[in-house]
Amino acid sequence: MNNFNYIKADSPDHAIQQISDRQRTFLLAGGTNIIDLWKYNLTHPDTLVDLSQIKGLKTIHTLENGGLHLGALVSNSDTAHHELVKSKYPLLSKTILAGATAQIRNSATNGGNLMQRTRCHYFYDAAAPCNKRNPGSGCPAIKGHNRMHAILGHSDQCIAVFPSDMCIALAALDAIVKVKSSRGERIIKFSDFHRLPGDQPEKDNTLENDELIIAIELPNEGFSDHYSYLKLRDRNSYAFALISVATGLVLDGQIIQKANIALGGVAHQPWRVPEAEEFLIGKDATPENFANAADIILAGAKGFEHNSFKIPLAKQAIIRNGAMALHPERQRPGAQPSL
Ligand SMILES: Cc1cc2nc3c(=O)[nH]c(=O)nc-3n(C[C@H](O)[C@H](O)[C@H](O)COP(=O)(O)OP(=O)(O)OC[C@H]3O[C@@H](n4cnc5c(N)ncnc54)[C@H](O)[C@@H]3O)c2cc1C
Repeated sequence: MNNFNYIKADSPDHAIQQISDRQRTFLLAGGTNIIDLWKYNLTHPDTLVDLSQIKGLKTIHTLENGGLHLGALVSNSDTAHHELVKSKYPLLSKTILAGATAQIRNSATNGGNLMQRTRCHYFYDAAAPCNKRNPGSGCPAIKGHNRMHAILGHSDQCIAVFPSDMCIALAALDAIVKVKSSRGERIIKFSDFHRLPGDQPEKDNTLENDELIIAIELPNEGFSDHYSYLKLRDRNSYAFALISVATGLVLDGQIIQKANIALGGVAHQPWRVPEAEEFLIGKDATPENFANAADIILAGAKGFEHNSFKIPLAKQAIIRNGAMALHPERQRPGAQPSL
């Protein structure tokens, strides 16, 4: 029996007062990850601060700059099915709906999605060494079962991947994360939120221990004319991505004006390579050009015994998703397969 204190926060500031020591105090949003971690004996909260009743963090509304505010406590389902998200940011809607199950998405929140932990088997096995869970204990995945693991940005300390779908779209959309602590508010660019493992794999992201995620904000550009999310996985539902690609394009005829491409399932963070996106600008949206961009994105990729297949798979996924982004209408429910 683990005894713990339970506090129901009624405002962001009330929650922030409680989390000055996040080592022992945990935030509960939808509970779909934190409760699992607890049941697996991987975390041991002294105090649980329940955010779920904070109404102020449950709104979605348009911003003055034409962008969109997504409250941290809005559920993944409510976000995916919101009219403003579906019409202006269909890439985000599609990406959320590719993750988990309807029941999990009904509970899971936007803030919690950013903070979910890796799905590395060794991380979830409390009896196994794991540098992410127990720094300095080792990384059995490097020579073990590493089919799901990273091909980019890994270190000799950790080859885990960040498992989210939603965050791959948020990376492609150039979202920002608004966070608050007793020191005030700050904004974290999405590309700076999740981090590579380096020699501190225990740190997933750049959120400080005493900070609360308030909201995610999207810029005006939503790529609603040309977008696609492709998730490749071992089962067609209820499985995390082996490789995923979120692509947003702005086109003038067939000529690419803007191309944002983010990969999931390949690294400890959503993976974007600005040089590849710059390469595509001014070029025709052809498979050949997407293939060349894929080579730039995957430069330096290194696989392990069971996951080297991900490198050619990622290249094909980038090419195919580029083609799918040209005709998003063919991906809507009831439509014929796009290619
Ligand atoms: C069986 C299963 C399958 C899944 N499949 C997928 C999938 O295919 N794709 C996918 O993307 N995800 C998948 N998920 C993960 C799911 O999306 C996450 O568990 C969920 O998004 C976490 O949100 P939550 O609100 O439940 O977070 P919680 O479990 O409540 O919290 C998770 C972490 O976030 C922290 N946190 C929560 N809110 C805040 C905040 N506002 N500020 C700071 N910290 C905060 C908590 O303290 C905790 O550390 C799956 C989960 C399960 C259980």
